Amino acid sequence: MNSEELMAKIEQSVLGCEKCRLYKGATNPVPGHGNIRAKVVFVGEAPGFYEDQEGIPFVGRAGKLLDALLRMVELRRSDVWIGNIIKHRPPENRDPMSDEVKACSPYLSEQLKIINPKVVVTLGRYALNFFVPTAKISEDHGIPQSWNGKVVFPLYHPAAALRNPSVEHILKEDFMKLPKVISGELKPKEDLVRDATDDGQISLI
Ligand code: URA
Repeated sequence: MNSEELMAKIEQSVLGCEKCRLYKGATNPVPGHGNIRAKVVFVGEAPGFYEDQEGIPFVGRAGKLLDALLRMVELRRSDVWIGNIIKHRPPENRDPMSDEVKACSPYLSEQLKIINPKVVVTLGRYALNFFVPTAKISEDHGIPQSWNGKVVFPLYHPAAALRNPSVEHILKEDFMKLPKVISGELKPKEDLVRDATDDGQISLI
């Protein structure tokens, strides 16, 4: 099977998914959307009201801000893939429960295996802690991290930025670093240490 077929198969499974309670209250599942050959993917938490209506991630107010941020670094939606940890909308947009994350996250893991991106941009605390459980969004935002041979780039969630202008300012500043994270100019700290050691230099960290 090629990548498109594999991805379509996952989307079919998500469509019929009853692995947790969330499908019962949802209008549409939101499997993920965009370029499956992208170098960079964005991972959010869970669909909200508008995503549930349309079956597409980040189409509400937070999505409009994400679009504006992408434009700022000259990326279009068609250049990236966007998905969520949770594929069905939690009622009243409540936080996902741990059994829901456990049931749903294998879909995202499979999708990431197919896309095999260089950079995974996490939006908000939930997405960050899915990849790096010990990380703290307030401390680690804007700092690339090594994860399974890829780079996880943690950002604040655009919805948090809509609620708080100082978070919006930080999100914009962090987002401006994305081109350098994609090009490899801005590396995870762990990789800098490894490179220095490979070169025969002494690591100071
Ligand atoms: N918030 C998310 O985390 N994901 C969406 O798709 C929309 C809003």
